[in-house]
Amino acid sequence: MLKRPNLATIPYGHQSISEEDIQAVVDVLRSEWLTQGPMVSRFEDALREYCGAKHAVAVSNGTAALHLACLAVGLGPGDSLWTSPNTFVASANCALYCGAEIDFVDIDPRTYNLSIEALEQKLHTAEHDGCLPKVLVPVHFAGQSCDMLRIRALSERYGFYVIEDACHALGGSYNGARVGSCGYSDLTVFSFHPAKTITTGEGGMVLTNDERLSRRLLMLRSHGISKDKAEVGGSDEGGWCYRQIELGYNYRMSDLQAALGLSQLHCIEMFVKRRHELAGRYDNALAGLQLDTQSQPSGCYSARHLYPISLRGGAALRHHVYDRLHAEGIHCQVHYIPVHTQPFYRERGFLPGQFPAAEAYYCGALSLPLFYDLSDVQQDRVIQALWSSL
Ligand SMILES: *Cc1c(COP(=O)(O)O)cnc(C)c1O
Repeated sequence: MLKRPNLATIPYGHQSISEEDIQAVVDVLRSEWLTQGPMVSRFEDALREYCGAKHAVAVSNGTAALHLACLAVGLGPGDSLWTSPNTFVASANCALYCGAEIDFVDIDPRTYNLSIEALEQKLHTAEHDGCLPKVLVPVHFAGQSCDMLRIRALSERYGFYVIEDACHALGGSYNGARVGSCGYSDLTVFSFHPAKTITTGEGGMVLTNDERLSRRLLMLRSHGISKDKAEVGGSDEGGWCYRQIELGYNYRMSDLQAALGLSQLHCIEMFVKRRHELAGRYDNALAGLQLDTQSQPSGCYSARHLYPISLRGGAALRHHVYDRLHAEGIHCQVHYIPVHTQPFYRERGFLPGQFPAAEAYYCGALSLPLFYDLSDVQQDRVIQALWSSL
């Protein structure tokens, strides 16, 4: 890894870039391909194999990955998508991109993931009212998988698609299989934003075991254009021929980004292991304080994207601690302001109080710095500052 200067400020998350990463990108700059080319295919193959899925489609970012995953299953006007309110806005926005309705399922106060009991109840009511969702987007918050076995059982009973928002969870596993293997879902989405497990600067990937979905993703990421003879209907005007079959986008990843992602993927085990080591140190050091941490159900190996704590003193205490830590150069963050309380969603009829567990968690929530390059000394500074601010 590059030696990072001992920064005065400690961010909540940060990329780790090695000399090998830099060389990999420079090599692409000297090659023929800058946009989508051979490195994109290699990165797709490597991630597909790592996760244990049949197909992988690289795209320009995680939000584009969510959008295409929704389009691939045919989400559109008159349909609805449900997700967790404790997530980044992109998990919900993707429904609106498709002209569908959005709704939320409250979280479990121990795992901070969407509550299976709340989901069961909401599905029961929706079935009665004739408004079942077409898509559920479970978000693996902080890198910890949702209870996918139970979600799968519900999807079979009520007939909705499952798109895993695994933007936090690359490198984690569930029930003995890597997140991304799509054993209990139709599609899984990753982001390679610099704060995530591995980075491509901007980038994303959609994984699936369904060949039909994968073909739709490939077409949609590049303008809805196909050069495949079977898809263009056998017409043969000449070698130049391509056909736009539907309305797609330019959501392609470049070879520069893919080369960085492939090089980063070589280090993923080391990245996640260090994140676990740091999380374990936090667990021990914070044990005596008035706060809760995310429970780690057996059978889940978290990717430890975040180390979220929930301060028992509520909003006023959280504000105080956040300010104290920032004053000492410790740039902790808050994940997440419940999506339904955002002005844009308020305008669409959502109200504070609608998802009380997500709102209660948010009041005390704070994400402590956690990333591969965080040193023990820096982490001790965070722990010290937290103890003295409480
Ligand atoms: C990062 C993130 C996204 C969006 O990914 P981008 O690559 O930034 O577009 C979506 N959902 C969650 C939960 C995320 O953390």
